[in-house]
Amino acid sequence: MKKLANLHALKNDPLGFILDTIITIVVNLVIPIPLAGELISSLRGPVLGCLVSILLLGIFMLVTIGTIILSPFIVSSSFLEQITSSLVVPSNIAADDSFIETSIPVQNPLGGAGMSYTSITAYFLDTNYLLQFGRIHTGVDLVPNDTYFKNSKTYKETNQVVIFSTINGSVSHFIDEYGGETVEVTNSESTLKAIFVHFSKVFVNSGANIKAGTPIGIMGKTGFATGEHLHYEIRIKSGNSWGITDPLQYIQ
Ligand SMILES: [Zn+2]
Repeated sequence: MKKLANLHALKNDPLGFILDTIITIVVNLVIPIPLAGELISSLRGPVLGCLVSILLLGIFMLVTIGTIILSPFIVSSSFLEQITSSLVVPSNIAADDSFIETSIPVQNPLGGAGMSYTSITAYFLDTNYLLQFGRIHTGVDLVPNDTYFKNSKTYKETNQVVIFSTINGSVSHFIDEYGGETVEVTNSESTLKAIFVHFSKVFVNSGANIKAGTPIGIMGKTGFATGEHLHYEIRIKSGNSWGITDPLQYIQ
């Protein structure tokens, strides 16, 4: 599973890869600098040897400082993604206006009244999940059911299972430790966030402010998943941490 995540990072992060290469070159320059100085000294005299050492050291310092300055931009976030591709909702996918604008996640992320559009393959704190995977299930796993395929307007129009934000809030889009495409939407009070995982495609950028009913991506199976589904999680701020809670208790 770790390997998958690393592959994903490498694929999506060529700048990080370049940074790694620069660091490797810089580190490998440290040892040759005094050696080169000494060599020039013995061939062309100490003055030139000293000048060459200073010049090499200068280049070394510049590259090092440059790397240090640039690294937070490259490493900390999806920097590359932000400069190369601004994610947009495809023109054939509309917002679901049956969602009400709210900071409380009362609707199903696949749309439909209550849970009519979805079946649940793993519950919140599901014991079967714990036994099977050895991990605590901190959300619910949702898959579209027959009613969804028969009635969802979005599915009929796009032939894709579109996931909608369930709250108004600001977006954080990232790839989790298992390679799962993840979107978090945090309400403006920073008291609650909705987390959506395993997308095959994501439509929203980190930092965007969106409303409940905004399409955020296409259901998929990226990351820790055995099949296509939506892992849906609600976190509530408690003190300095985000506590887990059952998302189903909100869906009306
Ligand atoms: Zn799950």
